[in-house]
Amino acid sequence: MARPRAVVTGGAGFLGSHLSERLLHEGYSVLCLDDFSTGSPANVAHLAEAGPFRLVRANVTDFVHVVGDVDVVLHFASPASPVDYLRMPIETLKVGSIGTLHTLGLAKEKGARFLLASTSEAYGDPQVHPQPETYWGHVNPVGPRGVYDEAKRFAEAMTMAYRRAQGVDTAIVRIFNTHGPRMRPDDGRAVPTFIRQALSGGPITVAGDGSQTRSIQYVDDLVDGCLRLLHSREAGPVNIGNPCEVSMAELALLVRELVGSASLLEYVPRPEDDPTVRRPDISLARSVLGWEPRVDLADGLRRTIDWFRGELGADPAPARAV
Ligand code: NAD
Repeated sequence: MARPRAVVTGGAGFLGSHLSERLLHEGYSVLCLDDFSTGSPANVAHLAEAGPFRLVRANVTDFVHVVGDVDVVLHFASPASPVDYLRMPIETLKVGSIGTLHTLGLAKEKGARFLLASTSEAYGDPQVHPQPETYWGHVNPVGPRGVYDEAKRFAEAMTMAYRRAQGVDTAIVRIFNTHGPRMRPDDGRAVPTFIRQALSGGPITVAGDGSQTRSIQYVDDLVDGCLRLLHSREAGPVNIGNPCEVSMAELALLVRELVGSASLLEYVPRPEDDPTVRRPDISLARSVLGWEPRVDLADGLRRTIDWFRGELGADPAPARAV
């Protein structure tokens, strides 16, 4: 029997590379479309040997054309960290809107199942806590972060329109903060930033008073949740995230302890519209996908720290008086 074939947009990014790896492992052939704006061919270089894998440089905002059968389309292309989407606001809006239109068109043409990578940022600065999928969110459309949040909300609406009006078999995953190997140390997200700073022995910069919370999951759990959703008949949206909630100050202290560093904590101004709390309600993922996270916070952080240590070649700086 012929192998099923997956198209992964953003496949050379952090999550896309892990998803491509798992799909190859499951027996798919994988075509990855990426413009390398925030990802890199180096993230998937090892996949050439892992199975039938092709990487094509393409901006999915321009057009999407794929020859041959396609069984599943995973649309993960988008700048994802605040540093990236604030630097590329228009590209972010375009890939969430026009890029989603093009990839849905591909799924329709090929009769493929479509999975949209949406985000917990669709909930904005939430007024319901924890956040269930039924919560419509609290997003500032005209603030700087609006370019990302609204692009994803538009992408969700477009996905549901293709499902309702065009009969495309679609699914939406709302991804909560995820970390793991192949994140860029300078991408500005809390986990890589804290790890890089702790490994260098310099100050760990915590935004505001550090009391704002996040719920962070390890990448293996996220990949497992996405593939369960892909292989199900559910439309979603489905939250995939670890409900273990920590404040940013607690996270900084934990990273510092796990790295074995004596970095000082330095408090810096909080970005505009930075969410105050964030925690997924995962009842739906539990009941319809039988999914829940398996990697606990410290374990996951240890794995990401080990990877960064290898990448940055860093040993923690000698302890200083705190
Ligand atoms: P990433 O920046 O590592 O990966 C995104 C990839 O998309 C990159 O390889 C980039 O080059 C590519 N890309 C961007 N614009 C493109 C375009 N127009 N055409 C083709 N390729 C393009 O980010 P990530 O963390 O892997 O995020 C992947 C997806 O998951 C994104 O859609 C993001 O919004 C979503 N997500 C991620 C998280 C997280 O915690 N990592 C949380 C919520 C949602």
